[in-house]
Amino acid sequence: MPSFCGEKDVVMNYISTRDNSVRATASKAITQGISNEGGLFVPESFPQISLDKIASLSKKSYIDRACDILSGYLSDFSSEEIRNCVEGAYADGKFEDEKIAPLSKLSDSAYILELWHGPTCAFKDMALQLLPYLLTTSAKKNISGKKIVILVATSGDTGKAALEGFKNVEGTEIIVFYPQDGVSTMQKLQMQTQEGSNVSVCGIYGNFDDAQNGVKAIFTNKEIAEKLSQNNMMFSSANSINWGRLVPQIVYYISAYCDLLNDEEIALGDKINIVVPTGNFGNILAAYYAKKMGLPINKLICASNKNNVLTDFINSGTYDRNRLFMPSISPSMDILISSNLERLLYDLSENDDKAVADLMSKLAADGRYTVSEKLKNKLTEQFFGEYCNDDETKETIKKVFEKYSYLVDTHTAVAVNVYEKYIKKTNDDTKTIIASTASPYKFSSSVLSAIDPSKLSDDEFEMVNILSKLTATEIPNSLAELKNKKVLHNQSCEKQNMKEFIFKKLGI
Ligand SMILES: *Cc1c(COP(=O)(O)O)cnc(C)c1O
Repeated sequence: MPSFCGEKDVVMNYISTRDNSVRATASKAITQGISNEGGLFVPESFPQISLDKIASLSKKSYIDRACDILSGYLSDFSSEEIRNCVEGAYADGKFEDEKIAPLSKLSDSAYILELWHGPTCAFKDMALQLLPYLLTTSAKKNISGKKIVILVATSGDTGKAALEGFKNVEGTEIIVFYPQDGVSTMQKLQMQTQEGSNVSVCGIYGNFDDAQNGVKAIFTNKEIAEKLSQNNMMFSSANSINWGRLVPQIVYYISAYCDLLNDEEIALGDKINIVVPTGNFGNILAAYYAKKMGLPINKLICASNKNNVLTDFINSGTYDRNRLFMPSISPSMDILISSNLERLLYDLSENDDKAVADLMSKLAADGRYTVSEKLKNKLTEQFFGEYCNDDETKETIKKVFEKYSYLVDTHTAVAVNVYEKYIKKTNDDTKTIIASTASPYKFSSSVLSAIDPSKLSDDEFEMVNILSKLTATEIPNSLAELKNKKVLHNQSCEKQNMKEFIFKKLGI
């Protein structure tokens, strides 16, 4: 087992979920993003945190906790490199709250973990502020001298968070595609006003799937890769299949436990539940990994919106994406293929690469698969899955505000609703952390329509102001400032012309 506190006597490797013979260092796994045969990189073992270790971490700042925890995973990074990365991401006021990921007590048993105090007001910042540092540090060890071109297809939150993370980062260029008519007003404005010398943003005439398919096709096109290589460039990915996006998320669950301890809400060793509003299964997987490291966790509660493919999977053992995609008021969770589930399947099957490869090829061919009885039992032992629809989401926003004077966004509301369903079913009074993934001001019109629909307006910033007055909550600076920012990117293109857009931007 690797020692935990930054000692580099044992080198931890990463293996592929679809081929146990693949071995990569942390820096290689991060640079490469995905294994050649299509599997995802996972650590071959998990660094362990003892209760003593948790007690000592609880005396530290978020940044020190992060350095300590990450050193267990980034085994070919020096301590200085890790500290540079972590401070680059979280120090110097980049987050509006000095605690970075503060807890807010909702009730006697529920605590909201606010993950949206970063520059783009969604939890994606927790990882995407750090990823550029991890990636450029990793690249130096593996592909020194090449320019890294980050391609992103986004349904809203990832694009802006990646732009903010990678802007002006030396040796990188970032190009984001979003569906011209498929993102919220605030999300579009956030991207169109993005500053930075290495950023490009383009709306495409199509939906998110078109953007995603276009990006995937370009990624896997050998001729395009060759052309980039001739120009001393390479593509990389900023989405959550990259280990560098997942590992920063483990930190805040451990940190939240430390905060509960400091606030004397729990005693050292007490178990907690964690509720996560889930889409691609990245955020909740990070909580599962924290549990594997030794964090005392009872249940992991997976909350979905009406695109409830994960709820059905947890309750039946069959994953079936053959269903209608339904746009919801929690759009960042509108997803039918949760890529990071593959990492959980690998772990629950006790590292059975063949079984995982088999399930994934069934998913590709038939859109569905069923896991073994044994695996299903392990799944339900640790996870609880439920979902709620848009009306329930709005009712929850209103109820939480009236009962606790606390304003949640549409995604967090799904988590709160599912937590209530969990309590009803189990009567479990274990202290519970609810991951809050976005500021309510990112989704002002939906949140306002939940609180007081008579106040809806056509003007986004008017709604933001009304919401602030009605609820006596503060508008995050970075969203308030958007009103006066210049639109710098209003390009758009047909979905079949994404390649030309990229070449033009790269000047090749
Ligand atoms: C991305 C996102 C989610 C879903 O997170 P996953 O890691 O994909 O499960 C939930 N809420 C918000 C606001 C998001 O941006």
